Amino acid sequence: MTKIILKKGREESLLRFHPWVFSGAIAQIAGQPAEGDIVGVFSHDGSFLAYGHYQIGSIAVRILSFAGEDVLGADFWVNMIRRALSVREAAGLANGLSTNCFRLVHGEGDGLPGLIIDWYDGVCVMQAHSVGMFRAKGAICEALQVVFGDRLKAVYDKSSGTAPFKAGLDLVDGYLFKAEGFSDDEQVVLENGNKFFVNWTEGQKTGFFLDQRENRALVGKYSKGRNVLNLFCYTGGFSVYALAQGALHVDSVDSSKKAVEMVGRNMDLNGFGESLHDDICADAIEFLRDVPEDKYDLMIVDPPAFAKHRGALSNALRAYQRLNSAAISKVAPGGLVFTFSCSQVVDKEAFSLAVFSAAAQTGRSVRILDRLNQPADHSVNIYHPEGEYLKGLLLYVE
Ligand code: SAH
Repeated sequence: MTKIILKKGREESLLRFHPWVFSGAIAQIAGQPAEGDIVGVFSHDGSFLAYGHYQIGSIAVRILSFAGEDVLGADFWVNMIRRALSVREAAGLANGLSTNCFRLVHGEGDGLPGLIIDWYDGVCVMQAHSVGMFRAKGAICEALQVVFGDRLKAVYDKSSGTAPFKAGLDLVDGYLFKAEGFSDDEQVVLENGNKFFVNWTEGQKTGFFLDQRENRALVGKYSKGRNVLNLFCYTGGFSVYALAQGALHVDSVDSSKKAVEMVGRNMDLNGFGESLHDDICADAIEFLRDVPEDKYDLMIVDPPAFAKHRGALSNALRAYQRLNSAAISKVAPGGLVFTFSCSQVVDKEAFSLAVFSAAAQTGRSVRILDRLNQPADHSVNIYHPEGEYLKGLLLYVE
């Protein structure tokens, strides 16, 4: 196994269990590792620090183990997936009664940097964000079969959009495992008792935005008797909860035609008639421009990540400000705005500041009723605060 030897003093972050080794921290690579190989990381004086996946780039090693256990054996993957499942069990997500979909593995949050696995009632949809995880997908699939046994219906690898392109890997999405008789590319899942079609081959990301589960429940709680506008609705997660909890009417807006078609199917699936909803394929910002004031007294604003890297931060903050200003200015008096950012580089404070500026621009009186987060299955490793990405505010607008 290749040894990576760090510069003097650069072992500090690993001693605090941060799971990344930056290329600038490396003094010497003793060997010629291929991308995705497991390497050993050592301090300048030769003491062992950790094992991880090697990759060419600014993050050179993603740590899999600080303990020196056997990261090469099959047991490693089984143990790590069992540990991740225990967290979901502790959070009450894995009993399958009213919710049977959750994030099973959340990268660094579960000690598996570069790996995402979402669980859709027996179907695991996997996305590798590193070469190491992409190369390990066969072993990961076998481990899922060991951990879940007969409960596992399929394992679908959807890494073509996430694995590093330069790796020159054979990036074709497809099934790594199918139980006998399983044939569909989509199925119905339950989230807090609400039903949703999830299509992992055609849909965005792994098929569904599981990270909004708790916030959807909160929207439901506030929806009774309200006229709801769900902007950036994707397949209508928030819309279904709103109607289930007594909203008068919901308009759902997304620029993706496929997503909007799925909203309609999800409405039917939950038994909501056509008079209760309109599903609109449009640009959310243009749509807002033509919204009459006072029409909606609950708005959801959940855009895609405006900043994917630090360089895009200031533009992103301006975009959040413009969007929120438009929403706050249009919501009816006494109305609510649920506003979100899923950009990792926009932290809570920066987002609050953007929304504050947006509110000030409208001149309206705005109160913060709640601060919103990502749920337990999108767990954050305390040693890796970068894992926190979803934040939101619930605003009351006079
Ligand atoms: N709220 C959703 C998730 C939103 S993800 C849920 O609960 O499932 C962001 C969505 O924004 C995607 O569906 C994407 O198609 C849509 N989108 C991106 N740019 C847009 C734009 N300019 N106008 C409207 N929708 C947009």
